[in-house]
Parts: sequence; structure tokens; C-alpha cells
Amino acid sequence: MLSNIKHLAHKLTPLLIDIRRHLHSHPELSGQEYQTAAYVAGVLSAHGLSVQEGVGKVGVVGELRGQNAVSRLLAIRTDMDALPIQERTGLDYASQHSKIMHACGHDVHTAVGLGTALVLAQVAQELLGNVRFLFQPAEELAEGAAWMIQDGVMDKVTAILSLHVFPSIPAGSVGIRYGALTAAADDLEITIHGESGHGARPHEAIDAIWIASQVITTLQQAISRTQNPLRPVVLSIGQIQGGRAPNVIADHVQLLGTVRTLHPETREKLPAWIEKIVANICGSYGARYEVNYGRGVPSVQNNLALSQLLETAAQEAWGKERVQILTEPSLGAEDFSLYLEHAPGSMFRLGVGHKDKPNYPLHHPQFEVDESSIVTGVVTMAYAAYKYWQQSY
Ligand SMILES: [Zn+2]
Ligand SMILES: [Zn+2]
Repeated sequence: MLSNIKHLAHKLTPLLIDIRRHLHSHPELSGQEYQTAAYVAGVLSAHGLSVQEGVGKVGVVGELRGQNAVSRLLAIRTDMDALPIQERTGLDYASQHSKIMHACGHDVHTAVGLGTALVLAQVAQELLGNVRFLFQPAEELAEGAAWMIQDGVMDKVTAILSLHVFPSIPAGSVGIRYGALTAAADDLEITIHGESGHGARPHEAIDAIWIASQVITTLQQAISRTQNPLRPVVLSIGQIQGGRAPNVIADHVQLLGTVRTLHPETREKLPAWIEKIVANICGSYGARYEVNYGRGVPSVQNNLALSQLLETAAQEAWGKERVQILTEPSLGAEDFSLYLEHAPGSMFRLGVGHKDKPNYPLHHPQFEVDESSIVTGVVTMAYAAYKYWQQSY
């Protein structure tokens, strides 16, 4: 079966490279992937999959029937959106849309998702169950997965697989991660209300700027002294607003930030922990405050057995030396985690690094992939899918 999948994937590679380049030159922003979705739907239906469009607002679902429709249902998820970045790669097939770029490799994900569907469609009689392909919009806003789930894409799904490109792994290799792959990403908004006054008469005012500075400093210090250092908490205040004039004490400051954690138990305790610190500082100086802790996407926790499935499939396909076990998670966020609230799953890292030129990071205007990674992604995903029904989970 493996050699058959490899043969089919290699035969499809020129087409998949064309598909990826077409998507790369026609990127669309999150939630506006209309042309991309129509294109994906066209490719899927041309190859005999049953297709549903407009799922999760702009998403596409392709269904492939294996031998045994009542057996476990495997979902394969890829995302389709691009970023508001002006591309500076100088490629012939660079973005034709001003200030929009596939700088996170979702064009590669879509090509790999389509390639996997096209390969598996040709061996459908060998599959012991059905596969549902999810082409998701708006991952960069961390909203698309929720839209898809709301439209029922996880109904009856028993496992879900996904991938993300990774420039620091060379093309031809894949990275497997056991346990936490990405962080929970939450929003933090703290508002401090003091009392305005003359800059020369601080004793008659409540200085919201000074209090805000205490809040920021104390939060950072308190992380290092009260949070378990083996369970990371990153709290970054990225925006601060307050004050009207150099000689007027500010009566109001707003702090906006992001909070990243890997462990659900740590995350659970943070809203109350932050509020207590803010309350103590504000209480000491007579200021009022509001803390809004907005829950974003949870951490991606890769399922052990499904990570093993991906690792074995990749090792059989490419040899041990081309499979890296990732020892560290990322504190980035990924809304794939929302699917994992409905079924176990695992996401692997697809190496897209060039061996002979510099590799720019994701979301960089010069980010560029080695396209030989596409066939690696397709074979790994298709073979793992085939093997999913070979064992019990
Ligand atoms: Zn991204
Ligand atoms: Zn991404």
C-alpha cells in the first residue's frame, strides 16, 4: 500500500505544485476565502468526492467513502487563509493581491489536503472507513474552526489529523510532537480608573499611569515568583493607552495583552490570580479597576496514539532519520485545538526548509517554502489515514 500511495503522490506532484502556486498567487484574507473555497470544491468534485460548500461560512467539506461506512470516521483538516502582509519574495508566482500573502503556508496545507484526498480517492476500495476532508477558513483569526464545528463537521468523527508547515525543519522531513504542541492564547484587558489632577499636585489626584506601571511590573515579577517555572505563563501587554497632557495626571489607563499557557490547570487559575494582583495594587492607592479575561483557543494537546500513528507512518515512508521528535512545544496558538474538544487528534509539522538558502520565519514577507515538501506531506497524511483503520484506538 505504501508504495502505491507514494507512486500516486509522485504522479500528482506536478498538479499539486500548480495548485499550490495558483493559491499562492491568489491569497485571500481570513473569512473571505471565496475564490479559494470555490477552487478547492472544484478540484474535489472533479476527482469524485462529494462536496459541500459554505460550511463554516466559507469552508469546504469533502467526503470520501471507504469500504465500510459504519466504521470509525477520520477527519483531515487543512486551513486556507492568508495574511495581511505585502509579499517580498520576488517569486514568479508571488501574490497578485496587494498586501495579502500566504506567509503561513496555508497554501501548502490546502495543496497537501487536496493531494491527500486525490490519492485516497484512488485507493478508496482499500480504506476500511470514510474520510472527511475539512478545508477551514479564518484560522489566523482563530475563528474558522469554531464556525466549522458549529456547522456539524465533527459529527461522528472519531479522530482528526492535521499539519502545519515548519521552516526550521528541512523539506523532506516531518516533526512529530507528543502532548502539547501549541499554547492556549487568551486576551487580557485591564482598565484602571484613577482621578485626574494637576501634574504638580500628585497628592490631590490618583495617578492611573503610575498605578498601571505597578500592575505591569508586579504581574511580570509575580509570574517568576509564584507560577511553576516548569509550566510556562507568558503575559505580554502589547498596548497601553491613557493620559491627555504632559502636566495632567491621567485618570484612566487601559492595558491590552495576550496570555499564553500550555497546561489547562495553569490557565484555569490565571483570571483570578491576575484580578487579585490588580485589586491589591489598585486598592492600596484608591483606584478602581476592571479586568476582562477573554478566553481564546485552548492549547493543542496531541493525542498519544495518533501521534504514534503519524510517527510510524512517516518512519515507514521516509526512514527514521527524516522524522524528528519535537522536544519543545510552541507558545503560538492554533485553532485546531477546538476540534480536539470533540475527538482525539494530532497535528504534525511538515518541514519546508530550504537546504541551500536562508529560511525566513512564518508570517515574514519573505517566507518561502521548498515545494518538494508537498509530496512528503501528502504521503505522510495519506498513509497515516490508511493505517488508521488497521489498528484499534
Ligand atoms: Zn499563521
Ligand atoms: Zn498557520
